[in-house]
Amino acid sequence: MNNMKSQMPETLDLPQNIFKQAVDNALDIIMITEVNSDDPGNNRIIYVNEAFIQHFGYERDEVIGKSPRMLQGEDTNEETRFKIREALSNGWPIDAEIINYDKQGKKYWIDLKMVPLYGDDDHVTHYLFIERDLSERKSKEQQLYEKATIDDLTQLFNRHHTYQLASQAIEKAQRYQTTLSAIMLDIDHFKEVNDTYGHPTGDKVLTKLSKLIKDQVRKADIVGRVGGEEFFILLPEVSVEEAYAMAERIRSSVERKSWRATGVENGITISLGVTEYHNDNLESLIAKSDKSLYHAKETGRNRVIKFNDIPQ
Ligand code: GH3
Ligand code: MG
Ligand code: MG
Repeated sequence: MNNMKSQMPETLDLPQNIFKQAVDNALDIIMITEVNSDDPGNNRIIYVNEAFIQHFGYERDEVIGKSPRMLQGEDTNEETRFKIREALSNGWPIDAEIINYDKQGKKYWIDLKMVPLYGDDDHVTHYLFIERDLSERKSKEQQLYEKATIDDLTQLFNRHHTYQLASQAIEKAQRYQTTLSAIMLDIDHFKEVNDTYGHPTGDKVLTKLSKLIKDQVRKADIVGRVGGEEFFILLPEVSVEEAYAMAERIRSSVERKSWRATGVENGITISLGVTEYHNDNLESLIAKSDKSLYHAKETGRNRVIKFNDIPQ
């Protein structure tokens, strides 16, 4: 556990002020705290380097003597706080990722390495905190996640992610024996919209329609663009009657909406197929929704059809 200590040379050839200047100028954020022997979980900052000042925006005298907890805030993960407290009371080193706040209250993901330092009597007297800003990496991770799950044009979930979330929702409905309904939605004669007004106008219609759908569903519902002009909506804990009512509301608001802002003079209509989950797997739920949708197309479009209402 105390590898750091055993690797330390017994005597230091470098004068202390040279050491201090080296640490002062390190690119990583460095903070040293002094252990309060009466209360090991409660130590005080006695040193911060230049990178700390630059990063957190505090003056040195605003932090010296304070607890490092001053850098934590409401989004700081409780598990990590516990890990730190545990390490402090046992004299352990840790590596963790933690949310810290600067003086302005801006939060940062920080890669934190905390190392116990030993005094002459082999007791932990200080802790060294070496910290690195992870915000850039975290935001890249977020960007990659969004790229992989979100449809660029409409900002809805893309096909792959929609069906992934749908599988999870189906598993949950199965496990807890709850209801679940699905809607498949397709724009009527969309090819004509593109042919008449051009593809960019068609894209605007897709974007506006996506927003309209999003505005009508609940937060817990999953909405994805699963084809060019085809959308899948999954409604956990919703019966087929309620799903039908929602589909009908969406259908009628699309029909009533003016699309002039997109450049489309005439109206737009959509067709929808509604299904309730009955121990289906994803494939059969999609197939039933599709079948209902196509029945809506065959029987005149601009309508909602429930799977159970299709003549067998
Ligand atoms: P139906 O009522 O039978 O659904 O007729 P439809 O014309 O909507 O159906 P069809 O499958 O024949 O054509 C769908 C059209 O959707 C073809 C394509 O031009 C258009 N489309 C697909 N993806 C996009 C897209 O990303 N942007 C635009 N603008 N159009 C798209
Ligand atoms: Mg269509
Ligand atoms: Mg289609």
